[in-house]
Amino acid sequence: MYGSARARRRHAAAGVRQGIATGRPSRHNAVMNDPITRVPGGWRLPGISNLHSHAFQRAMAGLAERRADPSRDGSAARNGHDSFWTWRETMYRFAARMTPDTTRAVAAQLYVEMLEAGYTSVCEFHYLHHQPDGRPYAPADAMSAALMEAAHETGIRLTLLPVLYMTGGFDGRPLSERQRRFGHEVDAFLRLVDMLHAREGDGLRVGVAFHSLRAVPEAAMHAVLAALPADLPIHIHIAEQVGEVQDCLAVRDARPVEWLYDHVDVDARWTLVHATHLTPAETARIAASGATVALCPTTEANLGDGLFPLRAYLDAGGRWGIGSDSHISISPVEELRWLEYGQRLATGHRNIAVAEGSDSVGETLLRAALAGGAHATGFGATDDAVVLDADAPVLAGATAGDAADRWIFSGNRPLVRDVHVGGRQRVADGRHLDRDAVAARYAGTIQALLSA
Ligand SMILES: [Zn+2]
Repeated sequence: MYGSARARRRHAAAGVRQGIATGRPSRHNAVMNDPITRVPGGWRLPGISNLHSHAFQRAMAGLAERRADPSRDGSAARNGHDSFWTWRETMYRFAARMTPDTTRAVAAQLYVEMLEAGYTSVCEFHYLHHQPDGRPYAPADAMSAALMEAAHETGIRLTLLPVLYMTGGFDGRPLSERQRRFGHEVDAFLRLVDMLHAREGDGLRVGVAFHSLRAVPEAAMHAVLAALPADLPIHIHIAEQVGEVQDCLAVRDARPVEWLYDHVDVDARWTLVHATHLTPAETARIAASGATVALCPTTEANLGDGLFPLRAYLDAGGRWGIGSDSHISISPVEELRWLEYGQRLATGHRNIAVAEGSDSVGETLLRAALAGGAHATGFGATDDAVVLDADAPVLAGATAGDAADRWIFSGNRPLVRDVHVGGRQRVADGRHLDRDAVAARYAGTIQALLSA
């Protein structure tokens, strides 16, 4: 599934060495078969996991596509002075306006769109914890609860990842005024994790996230890891930006992934988000550890992050899944299509993401995203089902051998017809059953956010 049999054995060996299961074999077997199968009237596939989401950013999707300072010298701006870091300014302005009510309304709209696109679970990388001035809400988990309510009312499975965010840079500088609502000390953070963990249920898993190496000091990371139950998913943003790699080198004398693996026992519980800028040695270390990489191709393109070394990672047997991150696009088709297209544009070759046992790019991508997703969400394989419209012209004459390629690489019309999560239908004829009510609430919320 992840490449060579030797690589798979290496995963299994790593899991035994670290005392945890890397694969949950019975769950993985469910996605080892053909990922898309014919059913009456459609093509059925398992639900896809969205491994990386900041729900509130759905409210600003499309609102950061303007030059940050139009009065600036035109030639300099055209030469690319806008970047991740200027986008972050827009994001901070939006983050400052969110309340539990607006978060719930925005997240519900987002989750409806995810379900209609074929995602049936989402990892919410949640750092908007407190009031804008940094004081905790009462109760302290009010923002987390808003996300849980949005997931519950729309029916998507939620892996809630409360984020530890403590410092404003690798040098340990304090959080800026606009980052204050993200911040925790370790004890308060662990209390929040406990509070949320106690609420786990059928559609809810709770893990933890470290925002990034620049936002979490080493001692705090070790304190949290030592206090966690052994099987919690752990996610972290890492090596997304060249500037982040340079800062890490300057302060810690190591690249981010290199530093993480040198200082922490990274195993199959971990999901590394982006991991864009890697050396060959770092790529091999991630693959050998059994960790999952959460790739977010549309956001990484939108932010100008760079390209993940996909072919080398596949050759090393690495595990990965997809996420929609900033929600500039909410479509597994677009994430997988652009994951492959980025590699083609960079190398001048076609059909990059093929693995042993299949010569189909679509099937390889889908199989890996399903397996990595099932693992990194903590849900494992489920009976969630997505049914594509067999009457769509792009699927005319499709076979089990080409249905995945057709779905991922041809056309732009959404083909998801029905979605069932945990045995309950949430999408029928391409529409979430509560689409209109959720969209009406969202429209009112956005009007209020934009005029705030
Ligand atoms: Zn992110």
